[in-house]
Amino acid sequence: MNNEQNTEESLDQPKPEDEVIKDEIDEVIEQDDSNVQYTVSRGDTLSGIMAQYGVNRNDVYILTKQFKQLTNLRIGQQISWTVDNEHNLKSFSWIISNNNMRIYEKVNNKFVERLETREGIWKPYNAQGQIETSFVADARKQGLTSNEIANITKALQWQLDFRRLKKGDKFSVLLSREMFGDKHEKSQLLAVRIQNGSKNYYAVLAEDGHYYDMHGASLSQNFLRYPLVKQARISSGFNPRRLHPVTKKIAPHNGVDFAVSRGTPVLAVGEGEVMIAKYSGSAGNYIAIRHGRQYTTKYMHLDKILVKAGQIVKKGDKIGLSGNTGRSTGPHLHFELHIDGKPVNPLTANLPISDGLTGKSKKTFLEQFKKIKPKLAFESEHNSN
Ligand SMILES: [Zn+2]
Repeated sequence: MNNEQNTEESLDQPKPEDEVIKDEIDEVIEQDDSNVQYTVSRGDTLSGIMAQYGVNRNDVYILTKQFKQLTNLRIGQQISWTVDNEHNLKSFSWIISNNNMRIYEKVNNKFVERLETREGIWKPYNAQGQIETSFVADARKQGLTSNEIANITKALQWQLDFRRLKKGDKFSVLLSREMFGDKHEKSQLLAVRIQNGSKNYYAVLAEDGHYYDMHGASLSQNFLRYPLVKQARISSGFNPRRLHPVTKKIAPHNGVDFAVSRGTPVLAVGEGEVMIAKYSGSAGNYIAIRHGRQYTTKYMHLDKILVKAGQIVKKGDKIGLSGNTGRSTGPHLHFELHIDGKPVNPLTANLPISDGLTGKSKKTFLEQFKKIKPKLAFESEHNSN
């Protein structure tokens, strides 16, 4: 029986056919299921980041105890890690600079550090193209990798819906690629410009590792931390490693339960599109909202659903009333946040921030953009000058 091998059974689950259907953009964003990539932001600590993703705390404790330097993560640095099915940490990588990476691998309950001094040469690369079929297909035609395409769609996820680009729309991408001879592995997206009809959208990398528009303004949107008017008691926390009380198998709790009485207004935490709004199995009355390209939120056991699939909602919109439908032993709201297709702790996750650049960092950014802008010009624009 298939069930015997299935080590994970979430207790709050819609029917499989009522999950959000993935499209080709999801596929490039969610490529590798066991590998998480993360850009260090203001206020981050390693243990905090790991807790957001439900990584085994004991492993994180061993790692940081063994390697104290890991408390010095800097804003904008990239880290990535892999976990097994039970969220035990298998390996952790820390990119200190373009040519200097540290890798920590777990061997017999300890971590072994390996330094990787990369010998590739980082070179700028400009790709331009125009939409014939879809952004993903046409970007691939210009030699962009899945990873590069994912980074482009993430950078502009709040500005435009890449699925709605039309034939003849153009894109210009500036990358820094690490070259080993004529082959490349890693790359960094420096800037992208998309021309959609008569509109131009820019995303440009700043020193803090985030992307901004050409004026240094945020490309992002604010989220509410809770899908409620006021915070309520948490009756069950986020725990992807939760053991099922009876079977002792891992039964992940991929969200947070708020103890609220039946009929409490449930709010959309951010602007987005309602993907699913229906009754479904253990989830009861259930809503899934897609925000940008990287974020999905789910609301379960509702008494009433007040939105329809396909509807666009704004942050704070009332989308339902909490209840006790589906597999639920008392009135509560089960709330999930998924980033890049992975469940994270909604109470501690790094939510998108909408602060633009100010002061010195803005000045540096604008000077940098002046140099970058001509490189994003389309061929036709060169000719007309
Ligand atoms: Zn729950």
